Amino acid sequence: MNCIFCENETSTDRSIEHIIPESLGNKDHTLPRGVVCDKCNNYFARKVESPILDLEYFKLTRNEEGLFNKRGRPVTITALFKDETGGYLSTDIGISPDGDTLNIHILNEMVFDRIRSGDGINEVMFLKAPMEPPVGLLGRFLAKIAVESFVLRLLDAPNFLQDFIREESLKPIRKYARYGGEDWVYHQRILYPRNYPQPDLIPNEYYQCLHEFDFLYTTDSELYFVLAIFGVEYVINMGNPSIDGYQRWLEKNDYISPLYTEKNIQAMKV
Ligand SMILES: [Zn+2]
Repeated sequence: MNCIFCENETSTDRSIEHIIPESLGNKDHTLPRGVVCDKCNNYFARKVESPILDLEYFKLTRNEEGLFNKRGRPVTITALFKDETGGYLSTDIGISPDGDTLNIHILNEMVFDRIRSGDGINEVMFLKAPMEPPVGLLGRFLAKIAVESFVLRLLDAPNFLQDFIREESLKPIRKYARYGGEDWVYHQRILYPRNYPQPDLIPNEYYQCLHEFDFLYTTDSELYFVLAIFGVEYVINMGNPSIDGYQRWLEKNDYISPLYTEKNIQAMKV
């Protein structure tokens, strides 16, 4: 077997690849060992996923969702405490939900001691999280998830992996995910507030949707990957760095999300 990104032989590789990082709540969508080699798995974790997960926006969201990191610890965010001189003391804090309350752990001992001693600290600020992570980072993060989701869908088909690696039209997106290069544009919009309960297939039961994804094949023969994380929809073209075809599709389809088209609702019911 060969790695779907670098194409190296993977017979001795051990990594199970999480398509969406575990710390975004994904336990189910994984690729078996040998599909993504250890080196690529490690590269994505350090260079593509960590910088995204460490963005203040994702840290705050993960905090609010009560998601812990891989080691089972609360995600930390940055807080600034204002002292009597008007200066700020910066510290990481961990927030963990506990029933209806949130526990706050102040990780900088010096700041903690000063707060405890009532030493002139009377105000705390949290950094405002920008909604827009840097384009290059999130583009590659989406490209990686798109490639792996595509492989996951078809993994059981005979000879699929060999054919996938030879497929010329999908080479640019997997090279972009793994090696970077010119930025691919992606489409981003808010679908619903992230704590909004989604109607489940079982009547009268609701679940909080952390992430969902699907593919859209347009009448112009373009393939798009559509992912929603915490209520924000991200779309990337599987064939080239342009998103124009998706804009046209949206205009024709009253700006519905491809995640909720008739085709997908029917598929979910089967
Ligand atoms: Zn590899």
